[in-house]
Amino acid sequence: MSKLASDSHSSTAAVQATNDDASASKLSCVNKGYMKDSYIHFFVRRPVKRSPIINRGYYARWAALRKLLLQFLKSERHGEDRNIKKQILSLGAGFDTTYFQLQEEGIAPHLYVELDFKEVTSKKAALIDSSQLKDKVGQAASISRECVLIYLDPDSSRAIVEWASRTFSTAVFFLYEQIHPDDAFGEQMIRNLESRGCPLLSIHATPTLQAKERLFLDQGWQKAVAWDMLQIYNNSIDTREKRRVERLELFDEFEEWHMMQEHYCVAYAINDAMGLFQYIGFSNDQHVLVPSPQLPQESEAC
Ligand code: SAM
Repeated sequence: MSKLASDSHSSTAAVQATNDDASASKLSCVNKGYMKDSYIHFFVRRPVKRSPIINRGYYARWAALRKLLLQFLKSERHGEDRNIKKQILSLGAGFDTTYFQLQEEGIAPHLYVELDFKEVTSKKAALIDSSQLKDKVGQAASISRECVLIYLDPDSSRAIVEWASRTFSTAVFFLYEQIHPDDAFGEQMIRNLESRGCPLLSIHATPTLQAKERLFLDQGWQKAVAWDMLQIYNNSIDTREKRRVERLELFDEFEEWHMMQEHYCVAYAINDAMGLFQYIGFSNDQHVLVPSPQLPQESEAC
């Protein structure tokens, strides 16, 4: 068990509640037309309208992670076997609906595993069971028990990153987390989360983009890249899409938007024994890795 549950400043219930917030924010985005998700409404009891800055932030997060996810799912060895079995392991999945979306688009991976507290996974399973989503998971779904790195203490986070690197020689690890806890905005962000009972126990161990990259490289990953969300929004999200979403709502909180986006990042780490992942990246940081000799049969995204 991670130290999270036993830490006197952490409340497991409060950490789990971040999932309700995330789901409600996603539904708010969907209702405003930022993105399409035909499933999220099954998981939100009381729809709420979020402010334009929150909607745009969630959209940016969704677009960044979706870009990397689609790159992972499309990755193949040049000119070779297109039938590589992909697996996705979603840590701290909450009520995320990506599986249903991928299934609808006909690009679901061979295996999709979600990890969260058992209270969250059980609730999700019950909501699926009592809705038309039941047919979409069929007999294949099962519940078992685990984590979002930044909510864990640094040793537990490192252990997970090390485990994933040791276990999967062909894998991409994506992460969306806070950075810069030490400036005025960062201190306020940390205080807000602490006052809600969910301190970010790992943030001081990985407070910068470089530290996020180091976290992966030190635990054996071949390559790691971290960009803040402002860089990603400005340089990696499709320009036409950005023009579309920027017309959806009146928006004048530019200073706060910049600060907020500079305090969140997406990092990805790659192990590429099979030579699959040369086209994974935010935009122009694509890279070529030298494959190591061992060739496993399956590839994994965490
Ligand atoms: N990934 C989802 C999304 O993007 O909508 C949910 C994000 S929510 C902010 C964080 C999730 O991580 C919650 O569902 C919470 O229960 C889960 N989580 C945090 N710490 C965890 C831990 N130690 N073990 C299992 N789940 C954890």
